[in-house]
Amino acid sequence: MSENKKKLSLTSRIVIGMFAGIAVGILLKAIFPDSTLVEGYLTKGLFYVVGQIFISSLQMLVVPLVFVSLVVGTCSLSDPSKLGRLGGKSVGLYLITTAIAITFAIAMAVLVQPGTGIELATDATYEPTQAPSLAQVIIDLFPTNPFNAFANGNMLQIIVFALLFGIAMALVGKPGERIKTLFDDFNEVIMKLVIILMNIAPYGVFALMAKLFSETSFETIFSLGKYFLLVLFVLIVHALVTYPIILKGLAGMNPIIFLRKMREVQIFGFSTASSNATMPVTLETVTKRLGVHNSVGSFTVPLGATINMDGTAIMQGVATVFIAQVYLVDLSIADYLMVVLTATLASVGTAGVPGVGMIMLAMVLGQVGLPVEGIGLIIGVDRLLDMTRTAVNVTGDAMVSVIVAKSEGALDEDVFNDAKADLKERNL
Ligand code: ASP
Repeated sequence: MSENKKKLSLTSRIVIGMFAGIAVGILLKAIFPDSTLVEGYLTKGLFYVVGQIFISSLQMLVVPLVFVSLVVGTCSLSDPSKLGRLGGKSVGLYLITTAIAITFAIAMAVLVQPGTGIELATDATYEPTQAPSLAQVIIDLFPTNPFNAFANGNMLQIIVFALLFGIAMALVGKPGERIKTLFDDFNEVIMKLVIILMNIAPYGVFALMAKLFSETSFETIFSLGKYFLLVLFVLIVHALVTYPIILKGLAGMNPIIFLRKMREVQIFGFSTASSNATMPVTLETVTKRLGVHNSVGSFTVPLGATINMDGTAIMQGVATVFIAQVYLVDLSIADYLMVVLTATLASVGTAGVPGVGMIMLAMVLGQVGLPVEGIGLIIGVDRLLDMTRTAVNVTGDAMVSVIVAKSEGALDEDVFNDAKADLKERNL
């Protein structure tokens, strides 16, 4: 009993860290608006240092964790032909949920008209990045040098290399079996590191929030209130209504249990604004608390962190309609379809890091001939939306993992339904 209390307190501590950080940030800004001392020692001092160390430590684990756990997962697949099915299902679900998200966002934006009546008040410029061609995206899946892929954190290339390595290990017999025990042990050690990090998360999350909120000006948010609130509304509906319907409909699992267990992952996503940096925690939760077997989770989670961005797609849908309305451009149904297609495909080639949604938006605007400078209108309020949509992105990654695992017979439903699963291991 007392142990349970102790375990629960990690989740509570992370939640408290987040709210305390938000409160301290807002208070600091209100009480010491222009204090160089506060800025020098706290905002750009202590909070900045602690927050960055926290994010760096999470990122530090991503590459080794993905490689090792995916090798372990692949070589323990009894039947390698399963891999094709697994890949097809995951990619299919990731793309479909993204398309649903953006279609819903566009429909809501057309209905609510967040950009109507807004005066053009931007001289900001934005340099668009060219969208890569589909052929290039496919070619780029294959690393010429895996160490380059590791060094650059190129997730899709790491996934491809780990899959091939794992398959070869399964096929080679004895030598494969021997190094598998080594990989298993590595996996355990890295997972332990994830737990250690989760235990310092309350401080990291506090520092990130305190810094951000002491620097955020709410005036810009008020001036773009309709756009801001609409994106927020669609994000929340997608996470709390669409996901539960899909999860219940396709896997028959209880969405309330799912959302409860996702709370920590969502806070990590929210405070880091990076699906990539959150990945260690997503993987831990998906495999240890939601009961997804490692052979599925180690594949679907890193893949999702890279190619699945429902929250980002929602922002792009609303932003495109918003910018079209501000610039008085009429978009046709064909244009909207183009937006859905470009945004869905753009999410495949871009990694889940802070702010990448804006780069993708530039590609989408370019495709339908809207002025890319329109991004200047909304970039001021993007950080908070980036955080919220990242929380949605990581929730989508975990949901698809559960559905795919269920369909493959790789979901331990007892673990999923057990509210206390793995809580004990989480406290050091
Ligand atoms: N920050 C988001 C993520 O990591 C991507 C974005 O929307 O900018 O998932």
